[in-house]
Amino acid sequence: MSERSFDFLMPSVNFFGPNVIQKLGERAKMLGMQKPVIVTDHFLETLPNGAVAQALVSLQKAGVDYVIYNGVEANPKIHNIQAVKALYLKEQADSIITIGGGSAHDTGKGAGIILTNGDDITQLAGIETLNNPLPPLIAVNTTAGTGSELTRHAVITNEATHLKFVVVSWRNIPLVSFNDPTLMLEVPASLTAATGMDAFVQAVEPYVSIDHNPITDAQCIEAIKLIESSLREAVANGHNLDARTKMVEAEMLAGMAFNNANLGYVHAMAHQLGGQYDAPHGVCCALLLPYVEQYNLIADPTRFAELAEIMGENTTGLSTRDAAELAIKAMKQLAEDVGIPRSIKAIGSKPEDFAMMAENALQDGNAFSNPRKGTKQDIINIFQAAYDAK
Ligand code: NAD
Repeated sequence: MSERSFDFLMPSVNFFGPNVIQKLGERAKMLGMQKPVIVTDHFLETLPNGAVAQALVSLQKAGVDYVIYNGVEANPKIHNIQAVKALYLKEQADSIITIGGGSAHDTGKGAGIILTNGDDITQLAGIETLNNPLPPLIAVNTTAGTGSELTRHAVITNEATHLKFVVVSWRNIPLVSFNDPTLMLEVPASLTAATGMDAFVQAVEPYVSIDHNPITDAQCIEAIKLIESSLREAVANGHNLDARTKMVEAEMLAGMAFNNANLGYVHAMAHQLGGQYDAPHGVCCALLLPYVEQYNLIADPTRFAELAEIMGENTTGLSTRDAAELAIKAMKQLAEDVGIPRSIKAIGSKPEDFAMMAENALQDGNAFSNPRKGTKQDIINIFQAAYDAK
């Protein structure tokens, strides 16, 4: 008999496919929402026929009132979640609808957390720290992507310390999420590449994580195959609905996988780059991935050799070690093909920050599931390798 046991978290309801956004109003009404705060940014709010415009039509048809917060920032800050909370209380709202990418969803989750679990979110960083449910939350996703529309993670940046931290709790999982690929057709190529590489890293890290299980393995394998076969196409032609649809499927699978099997040093270190330099999260992840996994490789070469095969590399006749190395090469190739820069110099990183960032990375909630246990010097060396990359 197997001794394996694990909890498995899934989103309760996810609407997937072209034009599912039209069901938003009806579903908000079913949840009893009378006046949600819509959490989004100014660009998405004013995008003609974009996600917000379509969401508002659907809410109006269903007779659901709303109030809009349009101040979401990349790498959302504590002042963003405080502003949403203030608006929620002032307008006597009763629920939250996030519309955007990971930054919008995390802003909405963060606001929900401080509305019901205490005002100082820094005290709630960590795993399963929330005692009370958030207000009802629906997430309409517009990037593929972070998976935040269905995960238990809320990633917030403390603007005073430049530290990005995570509140991980089953209570953060939105009640309903929407993944409509037609809302992603106008995402520019560079953002498609960055968010797509984030989804890729979120499939690779849980595959090699110490917390992986057979269900997350299946999700990672399918996500990696979908990304291999569609990310380049989605970057080359954003209006390719088939490629967009496959990328949404992949980001959902990867989101579910890391929701359960957790991540690793790529995310623990990417949070430092994002917090220090306010750099796009997907780019930070993509820049670090090959150097973290090169370091991790000796922990489980067989699993890395499997990754090479999953990515479509021909491993026939190769030793396990050589096949594993091929996986790292394929990761670099994917990032290069979609236009990710080679070195973390591109996002303004400075070697004098590496020691401080390494120390913080080892405390990040994502570090604990990494397959190889590193020292501070190991992490500094990985930052340095990603900096020296040519
Ligand atoms: P984002 O939400 O920061 O959005 C980036 C930009 O894309 C914004 O300017 C936005 O206006 C624009 N945009 C969004 N949708 C668009 C569309 N359909 N068309 C055109 N432009 C569009 O980017 P992201 O990568 O989705 O989110 C990154 C954040 O998510 C980071 O803070 C990261 O740490 C966090 N994250 C959270 C989780 C989680 O589970 N909570 C997981 C991974 C990452």
